[in-house]
Amino acid sequence: MSQDPNIVTRPPRLMRAIRNAMAGTESVQERLDHFVEAITEAMQVAVASIYLRRPSRELELSATRGLKKSAVHKTLMQPGEGLVGHVAKTARPLNLDDAPSHPLFAYRPETGEDKYLSFLGVPILRGGRTLGVLVVQSEDRRTFNEEEVEDLLTVAMVLAEILIDDERIGGKKAALKGITLAPTKPETFSGKAFAEGLTQGVAHLHVPPVPPSNMLSENIAAEEIRLEEGVAKLRASVDAMVSGEAASLSRASKEIYETYRMFAYDRKWVKRLREAVHSGLTAEAAVERVRNEHRARLMKSPDPYMRARLHDLEDLANRLLRALSGELTSPGKKELPDNAIIFARDLGPTELLDYDREKLAGIVLEEGSLSSHTSIICRALGVPLIGRVEGVLDRLEVGDQVLLDAELGEVHVRPVESRIDGFKLRVNIRGEVTKAYEAVKLQPAITKDGRHVSLQLNAGLLVDLPQLDSAGADGIGLFRTEFQFMVSEFMPKLKEQTDLYLQALEAAAHRPVTFRTLDLGGDKILPYMDPVPEENPAIGWRAIRIGLDRPALLRYQCRALIVAAAGRHLRVMFPMVTTVDEFIEARALFDVEVKRASSLGKSLPNKIEVGVMLETPSLAWSVRAICDHADFVSVGANDLMQFFFASDRDNVRVADRYDPLHPAALSILRFIADGCRKAGVPISLCGEIAGRPIEAITLIALGYETLSMPVTGIGPVKAAILTLDAAKLREVITPLINVDSRLSTIRDHVRQFCLEEGIPA
Ligand code: PEP
Ligand code: MG
Repeated sequence: MSQDPNIVTRPPRLMRAIRNAMAGTESVQERLDHFVEAITEAMQVAVASIYLRRPSRELELSATRGLKKSAVHKTLMQPGEGLVGHVAKTARPLNLDDAPSHPLFAYRPETGEDKYLSFLGVPILRGGRTLGVLVVQSEDRRTFNEEEVEDLLTVAMVLAEILIDDERIGGKKAALKGITLAPTKPETFSGKAFAEGLTQGVAHLHVPPVPPSNMLSENIAAEEIRLEEGVAKLRASVDAMVSGEAASLSRASKEIYETYRMFAYDRKWVKRLREAVHSGLTAEAAVERVRNEHRARLMKSPDPYMRARLHDLEDLANRLLRALSGELTSPGKKELPDNAIIFARDLGPTELLDYDREKLAGIVLEEGSLSSHTSIICRALGVPLIGRVEGVLDRLEVGDQVLLDAELGEVHVRPVESRIDGFKLRVNIRGEVTKAYEAVKLQPAITKDGRHVSLQLNAGLLVDLPQLDSAGADGIGLFRTEFQFMVSEFMPKLKEQTDLYLQALEAAAHRPVTFRTLDLGGDKILPYMDPVPEENPAIGWRAIRIGLDRPALLRYQCRALIVAAAGRHLRVMFPMVTTVDEFIEARALFDVEVKRASSLGKSLPNKIEVGVMLETPSLAWSVRAICDHADFVSVGANDLMQFFFASDRDNVRVADRYDPLHPAALSILRFIADGCRKAGVPISLCGEIAGRPIEAITLIALGYETLSMPVTGIGPVKAAILTLDAAKLREVITPLINVDSRLSTIRDHVRQFCLEEGIPA
């Protein structure tokens, strides 16, 4: 786009003055003094004052030009008190032509402000927090025009970033007596532990704020063009999401897409962005400023629906930021400090895997759910994850110290020494418990009444493989082959696939490895493939459905598996099979590849077993029929439960609503196990519940003797098995599992049994 020569390109006078005021390396106080000076001169007003919030929440007059200097650091306004307190409370500008006659006006003789009639106050916002208020006043009776209000909002934003940045740098520059703007108090947030562990580290934001050096534009017209282009790109991508040409969010429902579109086309939103750019901000800083305004306002809303809309707006703002930077690099590819604890609203599995595992200590999400793939990967990697930590993003700064207690589901930000000491003690105790598991590691998992249980690992990445030995697993019960596809920048070639499968087989040596063919779709998106937008991705075109409709990819993968397992035992299973016919069709595709390899004279696996994942209620009711065709059955309890309870495993509002220990769920699990046993087909279970002791022993009592789980589950489950009398537990629970049951869970009964029997669960 060419630039119109008539467009104003120079930033407004005020912005130039601010840029100069920013340039110095003086103390914060001098900087504030320069700011107020620059404002009075550029806006031609008699007074400019900065009020900053103390930790005790009063607003302190921290710099002024025009009011009495002697009032600086003396005048305090209570939250909500006077016009300044009102601006802070509402997080909105207040523009008055006759301030003293306003009912909220609070006269402070020490400031000498009685002679000033007009008043414009704007909040100094950062994240969802109000750091203070910036005020200009003049003697004459006037209403400040829109442009002046914009300009002052812009100055307030720049000021907020600079102040926080100065504070972060610390030292002499940061010294502003009695005031600290970044949150400093220790705070504890509660959430849900989705991947267990205890860890200490430093806060790192998945979406960091725009740095002060990138906030002020040099050329307004050029910045306006960038903004228009960014908005156009954003709208095009949102239109595509709605119309179905391409989607960047797989889980969002039509309703969410529509909300996005509504916001993307919201004239007020775009107008606010334009005004912000016009006032001298870069397009990125404009996005941030408008986002801050929304946050500060919406977070105060008592209506949860409105607060939820804030999330949509935030997503949209992040998309716009990405469109502006033209940056395709995921945030995870950027430099990470050691022991980083990532804070994000939500994180997809691909975004998670972009982070450097060596430096990643833990994850905190405002959303998330227990059986989402992000949580599964964290458990596999041993990275503690706490989700559903509401509001945490607004209460923290990059670099804050964090203790992540993913046992109790607590996040301690800026902890005091005594808390750190207590935490370290628990880390040590946990180490002791792990040592105790070490002691039983090589012992077979046999119940007190002599049932042998095979405890296997859920894996999918190279990093998982050493854990086979370290955890003492009996094999890999679920190898999620799609993980390799998700972490690659391009579709993995035959050789890359073969190499990974071979490494898994070699690491397992004599132990079995069960490869699950690609389970894509749902929340598993490939970075190099445009996902097809669907209203209900979890029950949409995913897993074996894609495999059968696009058989080339599935056959290619089968080929890699057959090559890798040459001369070895190959176990393959297909995900999300819904009808017996689907399985027969998939197996036929696999057989074609076996024949092909054989006709080419390739060495074949010495034994092949082709099984099915039982993840849909429909297949459960066809258990006898499927047993006629499958060599083994593996229950994918994560999906089976989500479909059984009609409860989206990724939806925070419903994911934990139903307990898999509900008698109805246990009935279907028992029905499947009985069906397989009668048919003489081996049965196993590989959902996340297999790794939780209470659930695991219940499954054993129902007849499951092969359980595949995240690495963290093996020790605790084995310890429980060694003290379990499975027949006795079966006797306890059998009468509870029937169609007459009104119980919504039998958890308490199993817990009580564990207490009586001394089972560590
Ligand atoms: C399951 O659904 O239980 C399962 C093991 O597969 P995934 O979690 O990968 O969908
Ligand atoms: Mg599944």
